[in-house]
Parts: sequence; C-alpha cells; structure tokens
Amino acid sequence: MTSTTERVLVTGGAGFIGSHLCERLLAAGKEVLCVDNYFTGARSNIAHLLENPKFEAVRHDITFPLYVEVDEIYNLACPASPVHYQFDPVQTTKTSVHGAINMLGLAKRVKATILQASTSEVYGDPFVHPQREDYWGNVNPIGPRACYDEGKRCAETLFFDYNRQHKVPIKVARIFNTYGPRMNPNDGRVVSNFIVQALKGDPITIYGDGSQTRSFCYVDDLVEGLHRLMETDGTVTGPVNLGNPGEFTILELAETVIRMTGSRSRIERHPLPQDDPRQRKPDIAKANAYLKWMPHVPLEEGLERTIAYFAKTYF
Ligand code: NAD
Ligand code: UDP
Ligand code: UDP
Repeated sequence: MTSTTERVLVTGGAGFIGSHLCERLLAAGKEVLCVDNYFTGARSNIAHLLENPKFEAVRHDITFPLYVEVDEIYNLACPASPVHYQFDPVQTTKTSVHGAINMLGLAKRVKATILQASTSEVYGDPFVHPQREDYWGNVNPIGPRACYDEGKRCAETLFFDYNRQHKVPIKVARIFNTYGPRMNPNDGRVVSNFIVQALKGDPITIYGDGSQTRSFCYVDDLVEGLHRLMETDGTVTGPVNLGNPGEFTILELAETVIRMTGSRSRIERHPLPQDDPRQRKPDIAKANAYLKWMPHVPLEEGLERTIAYFAKTYF
C-alpha cells in the first residue's frame, strides 16, 4: 500500500524535547516513529500518544543499526544534562558518534533528510559573546563535559561529511538551554532543580557565586524552530542557533523561581563544577533570516507553565 503521509523518525522521542516534538509532528499530520532506549526518557512522556494510529514507539539503542523506512529523521537521542551524560561518559560519546553514523547511514539508504539536535555546548566556555554560528568554540577535550561536547562536535563533523561525501540532506540545530513541562526532575538541570527545591521548601543550590549566565528557551518555541528548520529547502544545512537571547544570571533565576512559587527556600552556595561555562547567549540572526523564527514565550510565562506542571505531577 502506498501512502503520501510523511513518515518521520524521532530518536530520543520519549525524552523531554522529543516528546513535545512528536506531538508537534502528529499535529502537522505526519506519521511518527519514536525510537528510544529510555535511558533518560520515560514511557509516561509519550503515553498520551500511544492511542494515536499515526504514532508508534520502539525501544532501541541507536548505537546499534536500525533498519526502517522513513522520509525524515530528527536525531535527538542523547542524555543532555551533566548528571546523566557523565553517568556513563563512554556510552554518551558512543550515542553521539556511533548513533550519528547509524542514523546517517539510514538517511543515506532511504534518502531521508536528517536533522541533528546539536548544542550550544559546542561553543564550550565561549570567548565570543553572544555566540554566533561561525565561532569555533572553546572546549576542553579531556574534561568531564567533553564526552558530551566533543561527541556533539564529532556528530556535526559526520553530518557535514555525509552531506559533502554522500549528498545526504542535513540540518544541524545548535540548541541552547531549553526548559518546560516533562523535564526530568532528577537530571540536575538548573530550572528543574530550582523549581523542585522551591516547591519542597528545600535550599536552592547555586553553584559558584551565581553570576554565570544562561539563556532559557521555552520548549514550544524550540520545537517550532526545529520543525521550521526541517521544512527549509535543501540549501539550508545550518548550523543554526535555536535559543532565547534573553540572558539571566543563575542568581536572578533563583530569585525569580523563589518569588513565583512563594517559597520560603533559602539560597545555598555549592562549588562551581569544573569547566562550567561562564556565559551563554545565542545570536539568532540566522534562525531569524532562514526560518523566520524567534522565541515568543518570556521566561516568567514559561516558568509559570513549568512550575504548574511540576506542582501537578510531583506534589
Ligand atoms: P532527554 O534526556 O530528556 O532526552 C534524550 C532522549 O534520548 C531520552 O529519551 C533518552 O532515553 C534517549 N536516549 C539516550 N541515549 C539513547 C540511545 N543510545 N538510543 C536511543 N535513545 C537514547 O534530553 P532532552 O533535553 O530532551 O534533549 C534532547 C536532545 O536535545 C539531546 O540530543 C540533547 O543533547 C539536545 N539538547 C538539549 C538541550 C536542553 O536544554 N534540553 C540543549 C541542547 C541540546
Ligand atoms: N545503517 C543503519 N540503517 C540503515 C543503513 C545503515 O543503521 O538503514 C548503519 C549501518 O550499520 C552502518 C552505518 O549505518 O554501519 C553507516 O552506514 P554507511 O552506509 O554510511 O556505511 P557502511 O554501511 O558502508 O559502513
Ligand atoms: N546550576 C546551579 N544549581 C543547580 C544546577 C545548575 O547553580 O542546582 C548552574 C550550573 O552550574 C550552570 C547553570 O546552572 O552554571 C546551568 O546548568 P545546567 O546543568 O542546567 O545547564 P548547562 O550547564 O549544561 O548549560
């Protein structure tokens, strides 16, 4: 039987961003095959999609070959927070590198367009601020973050070489810190940590003096950017930064979460982890020009929705 419905593979589809992306693609009328080994993702993230006849979920580790027939691939599979990617660093690099080779081999065989979820971490602890796509970055190749940063950098290399050597149509998105409902409460990321700590009345753990900055993008905005990037014509490969240029110190984030939750939590200082980037803010001129994209959800509005999700799900 032939079908004109586009078949889309989402690796890491049971994760935080992946589950929102699956929803977005189903809403656009596509058939979605979610592939995940549930290392950091959860079946509960996609439970509400299982009844949809256009949705299918398969347990699979992308470091092993995968033979399916699809038209598009979004490659999101990879643990994303320091706590999780440092749990088994060798497996993290394998997921980025072997996973990319397998998914690129699949894309090559079935002539699918493939999008890589890369990261602002490719810029490391940046000397250029805000970060533009033509900045090559400042990454410690042997530090505790390297399994993630260098794995993602090597994946980008593989994407561009498969494009040049085998003409595989590629899209590379460099995603900056993203937050929203379905973040894993145990992954140690700053937004989920602060919200859970504030709701419990536990101390808010600030690493270092809290003057380091991050730019936080609400997940719906990010997913819209990923979808728009995939829909661009073949001349657009990226890399394209996707993130919210609003820049906040970690101390400002802590104070905002305390105020919004009405929490009585106090702030507690902890040592700054090794190689923790001092500042991070995307230059999104390229996304603006090629995708007509910019984020729309301000931090407080996104935090409100995220706090409501955590309060309802865990308290
Ligand atoms: P997440 O941990 O919630 O999702 C990752 C998913 O990949 C999980 O469901 C996990 O079980 C799955 N996975 C991990 N290894 C796998 C493997 N070998 N085979 C199959 N599945 C595997 O993280 P997320 O925040 O949703 O991140 C999704 C992607 O976006 C990741 O590639 C991450 O590097 C990238 N990214 C995220 C952010 C962010 O702020 N959340 C920022 C930059 C880049
Ligand atoms: N691969 C896959 N699914 C496919 C096609 C390939 O998982 O449908 C994997 C395969 O295991 C291979 C990798 O992708 O090791 C790279 O494929 P490529 O064709 O580039 O290289 P080769 O098969 O020549 O090693
Ligand atoms: N951070 C913090 N307290 C926490 C968790 C994180 O102060 O409980 C800091 C962390 O040191 C970093 C920033 O918040 O400077 C963002 O950390 P996260 O792990 O969320 O993202 P990444 O460092 O990967 O951008």
